[in-house]
Amino acid sequence: MSKRSNSEKRVHVLVVEDEESFIDALTIGLNREGFDVTIARDGQEALTLFARNAFDLILLDLMLPKLSGLDVCRSIRSISDVPIIIVSAKGEEVDMVLMLEIGADDYVTKPYRLRELVARIRAVLRRREVHEHVDLSEEVIEQGPIRMDVDARRCFVNGEEVKLRKKEFALLRLLLENPGRVLTREVLIDRVWGNDYVGDTKTLDVHIKRLRSLIEDEPKSPRHITTVRGVGYRFELTKP
Ligand code: CA
Repeated sequence: MSKRSNSEKRVHVLVVEDEESFIDALTIGLNREGFDVTIARDGQEALTLFARNAFDLILLDLMLPKLSGLDVCRSIRSISDVPIIIVSAKGEEVDMVLMLEIGADDYVTKPYRLRELVARIRAVLRRREVHEHVDLSEEVIEQGPIRMDVDARRCFVNGEEVKLRKKEFALLRLLLENPGRVLTREVLIDRVWGNDYVGDTKTLDVHIKRLRSLIEDEPKSPRHITTVRGVGYRFELTKP
């Protein structure tokens, strides 16, 4: 039954684009092809929207106000595996190798036909799906409203699938595997990020905040993932 609801779910694309003429055409075209579309009009807005939502794919223009597409791509890649397709304008000096090196999945050049774009989006998503669902054994963790299928990398809250990014998944898994135990910030950071933990010490808190927004009825007064002030976080044992 979870399978069915998953296949009915629409793909949500974050379109990062500052040219109004493109925005309208893309929104209408992609909607017609069955995609949900959210628009970010500059690089900063893209990062803000990305932090608050789970997108299935990002269509990322290179020349943007505030933050360039390359910076947006780097930034998102440091926290997520979401597929990214870069869009460049004809005549722009573009280093394709650099783009792939910083983690873009594909690129298209403006002007493009909608059909070509949609074909590329579908191809990238298909590649991703095949890659993510190869190993389907049966480790399932259940705590409170959460059911986590570890090997399929899927997570359900009250039976509804929620999309978790890689680190969010790892963090929630660690908490679920230690219900009732306080996990210190150091342990969480070490086990989830290891040497990947760079920069902002708030990264852990940002991830916790996002998990709460997905699993808690009232994220501001969480019942499941609680804060142990000055120490860390704990997944509360389910009360009967
Ligand atoms: Ca642009």
